[in-house]
Amino acid sequence: MVTTITSSREAIELEDKYGAHNYHPLPVVLNRGEGVFLWDVEGKRYYDFLSAYSAVNQGHCHPRIVNALVEQAKELTLTSRAFYNDKLGVAEKYVCDTFGYDKALFMNSGAEANETAIKLARKWGYTKKGIQDNKAVIVAAKKNFHGRTTSIISASSDPSARKGFGPFMPGFEMVEYDDVAALEKALANPNVCALWIEPIQGEAGVYVPQPGYLKAAADLCKQHNVLLMMDEIQTGIARTGKMLASDYENVHADILILGKALSGGVLPVSVVLADDEIMLVIKPGEHGSTFGGNPLAAAVVVEALQVVKDEHLAEQAAHLGEIFRDRMKALIKKSSLITLVRGKGLLNAIVINDTPDGQTAWNICLELAANGLLAKPTHGNIIRLAPPLVITEEQVHECCDIIESVVLAYKK
Ligand code: PLP
Repeated sequence: MVTTITSSREAIELEDKYGAHNYHPLPVVLNRGEGVFLWDVEGKRYYDFLSAYSAVNQGHCHPRIVNALVEQAKELTLTSRAFYNDKLGVAEKYVCDTFGYDKALFMNSGAEANETAIKLARKWGYTKKGIQDNKAVIVAAKKNFHGRTTSIISASSDPSARKGFGPFMPGFEMVEYDDVAALEKALANPNVCALWIEPIQGEAGVYVPQPGYLKAAADLCKQHNVLLMMDEIQTGIARTGKMLASDYENVHADILILGKALSGGVLPVSVVLADDEIMLVIKPGEHGSTFGGNPLAAAVVVEALQVVKDEHLAEQAAHLGEIFRDRMKALIKKSSLITLVRGKGLLNAIVINDTPDGQTAWNICLELAANGLLAKPTHGNIIRLAPPLVITEEQVHECCDIIESVVLAYKK
């Protein structure tokens, strides 16, 4: 029986043979992380420019967060919500105070939190807005990414997320992202209970909407008595240079959805936040999860968010993001291989002048890995570049040097 892995090849073969083929990873096998760095089983060190899809904003294995995890794990890990525990209320108060809401509902994955938000919005639609039973509509944006459950993919426009997985859940209407006129039309339907958007579309390739879009969306929601459901699972917790990306337009969503960096990447925790008149439409027994709100997660969330505040990670992301995009803009002038850089804070992407299959972007990521920097293409020719927010200015420049040398040396 295999118990320890001694080479990358061995690990890859094992995963290929025994694991489902639902991902297409870069051929790198990691076994250690610290701050901005990851190491593979052969001992090679890499800068992490994916941050587990922005789940490790605080850096890998942050000592304070790991300590909170370990200390709580020695006391109590799981009670289920059949009983109270002494950590959940503290975490609920902490997230409510931090983000400005009356109530919090903890779940585990991001997809589960979005599912929770869907149920909350529908129930609010029936009980508060007076929508006729089973007629509620949630308006979602094309090119969104909210997760992988069957309900969530019912509101996806990505064929690879949907093909072969129907039939789909009714009650979603799709509009173009970043299109206020489309929203005006869609939200006028009296059966609409919620608008469900990301403040920047991360998975789609870091699409930043025009300034004013989020504010206009929030105003239209108010005008039509529609809830604004903001998925900040990838953009939240300081990633884009503010605690929430919505803060750039002073938008306070009716339902805020967070996950990923809420735990600094040490265990899956997500949360849905809303005020009483929305959250209290869900009654005992109508929603839940065995692990949701467990004391281990609760202890970790408080520490993970406190680290973000104490280390001023939002300010750090804002400052370093400017430097990063300036460097990439300078590179675009030197190479026709990159056509665009876009993003906010340390959530950025470069667009590669590529064939439709995205082979160049993939090859560039292989070259970046060989040169000690891990990044992955999203949707073919787009490479997302999102390091942990604890990266230093000097390290950002070192990483830009790596990207520059790989791009300039690349031969199709
Ligand atoms: N929503 C957004 C905006 C995301 O980026 C993601 C994951 O990438 C999700 C939801 C799904 O989160 P999870 O993979 O934890 O279910």
